[in-house]
Amino acid sequence: MATRSEARTGLWVGRHTADSDLLVFDPSLADPSADRLSFYSLTQHRVRVFPRAVAEERIREVTDAKGAAQALRTYEAREALRAEHLDEMNVERAARDDRQKEAVLRRHTNYLASIGRPYEGVRSTAEDGKVRRRSSCKVCGIALDDFAHTACNACDGVLCSCGACSCRAPAARA
Ligand SMILES: [Zn+2]
Ligand SMILES: [Zn+2]
Repeated sequence: MATRSEARTGLWVGRHTADSDLLVFDPSLADPSADRLSFYSLTQHRVRVFPRAVAEERIREVTDAKGAAQALRTYEAREALRAEHLDEMNVERAARDDRQKEAVLRRHTNYLASIGRPYEGVRSTAEDGKVRRRSSCKVCGIALDDFAHTACNACDGVLCSCGACSCRAPAARA
């Protein structure tokens, strides 16, 4: 059996002992004698770079032939798999954005109720073609951008993540 230093001059598969990531070292893409070693991560579908000492300490070669062969098949298909992985990430991100936006809209209706203003609906600012900014939210004080891509129909102010727009409580009635 090859010693580790011999094995590590060719294409090889390793597993990171701390995070269990499956990593491929490809000498056609990365220099095996460099101070920092580049591996292709089969779970994150990106290049991960480790200082040589860390790689030697943390990345154990997968010696199980079946496991290594399967990993190399995955590596061969990496372009397509990477595209799939990115699609999944985008779907997740879109779902998270939707949830955050729903939460802002809920806070917005609560905000209007709390200042005694009617809810007149909101509109999307996504088609405005520019990033709308106010310096900071008058209610919660955070620096504000058009986080939810939504503006209040009553005041046309963008919604803060706290739910506030530019609507203010009506002045005390005479
Ligand atoms: Zn706010
Ligand atoms: Zn408003």
